[in-house]
Amino acid sequence: MRQSKFFMPTLKEAPADAVAESHKLMLRGGYIRQVTAGVYAYLPLGYRVLRKAEAIIEEEMENINVPEMIMPHLLPATLWQESGRYKKYGAEMFKLKDRHGRESLLGPTHEETFTEIIAKNLKSYKQMPMALYQIQTKFRDENRPRFGLLRGREFVMLDGYSFAATRDQLDQQFDDQKNAYKRIFKRAGVTVHPVIADSGTMGGKNSTEFQAPAAIGEDTIATNESGTYAANLEMAKSIDTFKQEAEDAKELTKVSTPDCDTIDKLAKFLNVPATRIVKSILYIADDQKVLVLIRGDKQINEVKLGHVLDADEVREANTSELKEITGSEKGGVGPINADWADKIVADETVKGLYNVVVGANETDYQFENANLDRDFKVDEFADLRIANEGEPDPVDHEPLKFTTSIEVGHIFKLGTYYTKTMGADFLDNNGKAKPVIMGSYGIGVTRMLSAIVEQHLTKNNAIAWPKEVAPFKVHIIQMKMNNDEQTELAEKFEKELSAKYDVLYDDRKERPGVKFNDADLVGAPVRITIGRKAADGIVEVKRPTDEKATEISVDELDGFLTKELG
Ligand code: ATP
Ligand code: MG
Repeated sequence: MRQSKFFMPTLKEAPADAVAESHKLMLRGGYIRQVTAGVYAYLPLGYRVLRKAEAIIEEEMENINVPEMIMPHLLPATLWQESGRYKKYGAEMFKLKDRHGRESLLGPTHEETFTEIIAKNLKSYKQMPMALYQIQTKFRDENRPRFGLLRGREFVMLDGYSFAATRDQLDQQFDDQKNAYKRIFKRAGVTVHPVIADSGTMGGKNSTEFQAPAAIGEDTIATNESGTYAANLEMAKSIDTFKQEAEDAKELTKVSTPDCDTIDKLAKFLNVPATRIVKSILYIADDQKVLVLIRGDKQINEVKLGHVLDADEVREANTSELKEITGSEKGGVGPINADWADKIVADETVKGLYNVVVGANETDYQFENANLDRDFKVDEFADLRIANEGEPDPVDHEPLKFTTSIEVGHIFKLGTYYTKTMGADFLDNNGKAKPVIMGSYGIGVTRMLSAIVEQHLTKNNAIAWPKEVAPFKVHIIQMKMNNDEQTELAEKFEKELSAKYDVLYDDRKERPGVKFNDADLVGAPVRITIGRKAADGIVEVKRPTDEKATEISVDELDGFLTKELG
């Protein structure tokens, strides 16, 4: 490709509102342009990278015998009403009406469509296991689209769906997909951790995320040193090492605690450690009033709470609800005589405590010396806390390490969630009707491009594209366009190397400085500069991570390229 004909509108400076390095680089390099919030045009450079990532996915899916297909973007509301997700999916769904007033939506994901079109057509166990995938634009009206391609409102996703007659088949499909995903990320140059994850509104319980460590990441993962435990912080478990010494139960006493609306203030005021306080927080879980208890030094994990309560939505009661229901303002709520609660659940840290401080359900009052069972009851104990960095992991008891990361992929064992509600049955080998067992698998392909850039920035914020996704593998730069020897050599290279590699040839009448700056933005694995010594058969080669270019004779070039690019 001749660079004089290539559309690559570079910028000196990224716009001030771009904060992520990947976003800045893709704007500066002319990879993408924003059309409206969270919606991007993929210009030739960006589109080349996207197509290469897609090609890797296509090959790896072919390898595990998963065929590609394509579903529509425009979907009828009825399909989503059938699964019950039309309401549940919430404000992220782009909804629209056609001229006849029929409600439609732009697909944010396609479990329903695949259940309808594929699962309902699998009538016999003999047709399974089966899996399909598509690479397609998805639409989500994200509350905060940001960081360029990391969180868009329109983005490209690989989504795959598996259909099985038995749980064993699903397990095998899940493992095949997981392994294919690992190969995809490896080839695309993304370092990932597969971690235990929450399945959100997808249904089903068993899910793994692929998390790419990066400073800009919106997620936090908790891992141990030996790699035997890795979980999204939303789901991470830890071992609580605190132990209170046994004490005799003392008399319950009510005390005035003015202006103590935080655990810190309360601990200071009463001169007790936070571990002697049991925090009580009122949650509204769907329609239930649930009082949640946790030891004062720990925080509640709302994702875990949602799972334990099996609720679609859990939220803390607001100030007026709190007052109305409990009679107390923040800080004064507690489990003693809390008849207004539909349920009291507690984190495991509330067990084995003696003579603790709890709210008295009266603003600015607490009880001291409260004891579980004697003074208050708990309906259910569970792990409801946010794990802390440094706590022992639940597998090998090594200290947990936290890392910010980007969720680039997510795979779920859906089970029969969709096929049951939407009525997709097959006949098993005994002729008995059963719901098809599904899995769902996704990679944010455009998000992955940002993750690649984040993980492959060079010291001077240029990009070193991994070989397989680089927009061009070889970048030929001719220093002086009016030098015949240079032109001859450049054109010869262009012709010969194009047979093996994607080649970009900078044939523009620009100053060398301009050419080198742009080359940093292209980030080709090999840059060949043809300059003064062209007549002597000497050129320069440079990889993006090299500090300096190296002179090389034209005869050695082939060997160098084979070594670098294969
Ligand atoms: P997130 O927690 O980041 O919102 P999600 O759980 O909603 O992600 P999934 O529904 O599992 O995402 O979608 C599959 C994949 O699609 C994700 O792993 C992610 O890589 C990608 N993805 C999701 N939302 C976006 C978005 N708004 N922009 C770009 N990629 C996205
Ligand atoms: Mg989301």
